[in-house]
Amino acid sequence: MTRPQQNDQRKGTNLLDMLPAEAEAELRAFAIEAGEKPFRAAQVVQHLWHAPREDFSAMHELPKSFRELLAAKFEIPRLTLEARQLSTDGTEKFLFRLFDGEHIETVAIPEGSRLTLCISSQGGCALQCSFCATGTMGFSRNLRMFEIAGQVREVTLLTGRQPTNIVFMGMGEPLMNWKAVDPTLTVLNDAKGFGIGARHITVSTVGILPGIVALGERKEQFRLAISIHAPSDALRRTLMPINAKYPLAQVIEAARVFDRRVTFEYVMLSGVNDRPEHASQLVELARRCKAFVNLIPLHAGGAGNFNATSPQAIAAFARVIRAKGVEVAIRKSRGKDIAAACGQLRVERQRGRTPVGSDQHGDVQVA
Ligand code: SF4
Repeated sequence: MTRPQQNDQRKGTNLLDMLPAEAEAELRAFAIEAGEKPFRAAQVVQHLWHAPREDFSAMHELPKSFRELLAAKFEIPRLTLEARQLSTDGTEKFLFRLFDGEHIETVAIPEGSRLTLCISSQGGCALQCSFCATGTMGFSRNLRMFEIAGQVREVTLLTGRQPTNIVFMGMGEPLMNWKAVDPTLTVLNDAKGFGIGARHITVSTVGILPGIVALGERKEQFRLAISIHAPSDALRRTLMPINAKYPLAQVIEAARVFDRRVTFEYVMLSGVNDRPEHASQLVELARRCKAFVNLIPLHAGGAGNFNATSPQAIAAFARVIRAKGVEVAIRKSRGKDIAAACGQLRVERQRGRTPVGSDQHGDVQVA
């Protein structure tokens, strides 16, 4: 598809790349200078995140002349929707194009009154976990705050529903982009942003130690999930090269001092990490930092030649863990009839294939 690419030569100040309080201060000063009431600033801020509008012209409670002045001075950039797929179970996947042609994915998982959004934090990923489609792309660039939080804004505009839960489990390693993820957490949680409770926002990491420390220093109760995937350094190094830099003992110690509940993510790979002794080793790690264990069924569509552990074997693995007193859940698969694997829709698009119809990875936690 050839479309003109939007460059970053924006004409105005990007209000979506500021914290809500900063945007409100800037808008208040602008309103006063324009002879408008200062409260107009709060009205605009409300339409940035909490009750988003496509652009200034759709902020109908503002005088038309003021909307025109705003449009001349400020910008609220959109992410361009490139593809949208709806699963039979209601899971929906969005592929967005950014101003420089970069593509990112977002997955929305409805469950009763909840809507969990799985968001991306980087274009591609440098960490090359052997089972991950995103890892095969390589790393393009870090996303900016307005591109990360912008995924939540876009899905709200596109579906008419505001997400209740956020998981940083899309493309990229969020703690390798802390500079943008840190203010994004504020936008997600702030009452003048999306107003989503901190306990409903989960940052998932392979174990980037400085990032875990930085997340732990935030006063809000944001959740931490750690992708363990193997209970020994020797095995983990073969699946996750980052283990050479941040070995398990250091990651577990960081989780222990994190001082809030931690979840272990553990993808079940047949004949690789799913034997009873692996379950026992995993229990030892979980006990050290009081972690909850999530077992993730593998679906075709990732990377590498891995096979999925059978449901019966996953259940048996879970029983070993539970019998030793560690809380464990088997994650429900969602979006199996669409390209819901992390990075998979983008990979399939790049190869020029139609991604719908295969048994794919849509196992974002709905918790
Ligand atoms: S699993 Fe996460 S950290 Fe590993 S390559 Fe994929 S996106 Fe990167």
